[in-house]
Amino acid sequence: MNFLYQAAALMSQTNPQLSASYGKLAKSIGKKAVLRMEPSIKRTLCVRCGVLLNPATTADIHDYRHKELCYVQVNCKLCGYMKRFYNSKNHQLWLDNPSSLVERIEFDSNS
Ligand SMILES: [Zn+2]
Repeated sequence: MNFLYQAAALMSQTNPQLSASYGKLAKSIGKKAVLRMEPSIKRTLCVRCGVLLNPATTADIHDYRHKELCYVQVNCKLCGYMKRFYNSKNHQLWLDNPSSLVERIEFDSNS
C-alpha cells in the first residue's frame, strides 16, 4: 500500500489516470488485507476515482467560512467528484479517541 501510494503521488503530476489506477489498487489491497489507512492519507485520495488529490495539478481546494458553517471543499479535476470536510470544534477522529485503543502491548527487550 505504501509503495502504491508513493507511485500514485509521483504519477499525479504527469499522468493522473495512472495515479488513479494506483490509488484504487492501494485501496483495494487495503480492503483485501483488512488494513486501515491513516485518515490524513486516505483524505488525499479521491473517493470516486482514486487519484491523489494534489492541489497543484489534480484538485481544486476551496476554504468556505460562513457564520455557522466552515468547511474545506476539494474538487477532483479528473472525475469531478466534490468532497467537503467540515470543520467543527467538537469533532474528533476515532483514532485520536482514547477509547479506540483496546489494548497496549509493550515488549521489553531485557527480559
Ligand atoms: Zn476523482
